[in-house]
Amino acid sequence: MDTIIQLKNVSFAYETEEEEKTLAVKNVDLEVRRGEFLAVVGHNGSGKSTLAKLFNAIHLPTEGQVLVEGMDTADEANVYDVRRRVGMVFQNPDNQIVATIVEDDVAFGPENLGVPAAEIRERVDDALRAVGMYEYRLYEPHKLSGGQKQRVAVAGIIAMRTDCVIFDESTAMIDPKGRREVLETVRKLNRELGITVIFITHFMEEAALADRVVVMDGGSVAAEGTPAEVFADTALLRRTGLELPPAAQLAAALRENGVALDGDTLTPETCADALFRAAQKAGVV
Ligand code: ADP
Ligand code: MG
Repeated sequence: MDTIIQLKNVSFAYETEEEEKTLAVKNVDLEVRRGEFLAVVGHNGSGKSTLAKLFNAIHLPTEGQVLVEGMDTADEANVYDVRRRVGMVFQNPDNQIVATIVEDDVAFGPENLGVPAAEIRERVDDALRAVGMYEYRLYEPHKLSGGQKQRVAVAGIIAMRTDCVIFDESTAMIDPKGRREVLETVRKLNRELGITVIFITHFMEEAALADRVVVMDGGSVAAEGTPAEVFADTALLRRTGLELPPAAQLAAALRENGVALDGDTLTPETCADALFRAAQKAGVV
């Protein structure tokens, strides 16, 4: 798998009045692999949003280097290409929609890129179908739910033929049903279109579904690994103020009570499977 974004010893300090500049991101070395679903977790203020903005040239590193498909984000000549390849969906679904009709909103990005009108039509329809919002193409965005608005925002990004989409807590302000819709849509885009996903979240059940998890703490990468590796490290979780995904909490409680669950128990599905196996072994089912 090749690398889509590479951070080489990256640090970032915000411009502030204070003499002592604290680093919001500190000496980060990180590779984002093409096609992966990468979750980024960490408590508030750990540097996740700053990191996200370094990924697509909204921020430029104070020190170190960020390469997007080999392009240095600090080179002014690359900014346009970097932003076209790496899109970002933010937290608030109401701040991201600019047009008064859904399909016009999705067309906004490609229009700005100077894509010919006939192709825009095709891209908008494709993108709306990909996020399951085609039937709503003529709706007024304010009539949509939070989850639907976020899916329209995603459509607007993929209509620009973006290679990578960053979600900065894009599920934090929407209800559980909308959250599931957004997550399912994102997983589908990742699997079926090969879009690289960087998913910043404070919901551990979302991180549990990623290929890889990066844990941020105090601006640095505290750990990275598969969800199984990261969530098995109880000392790390305690140190960085993270919890287990709910299914894993249930599994841990069952194990404490002597129920011998084997294998992965990070998601409701895998936890249920493990419980079923244990029940079978005990001759209960
Ligand atoms: P997270 O997204 O994990 O909550 P952030 O990247 O937003 O973390 O913040 C990292 C650190 O940078 C925090 O200490 C925060 O207070 C600081 N910070 C964030 N945005 C700004 C800003 N615009 N100006 C100054 N400091 C900031
Ligand atoms: Mg943030």
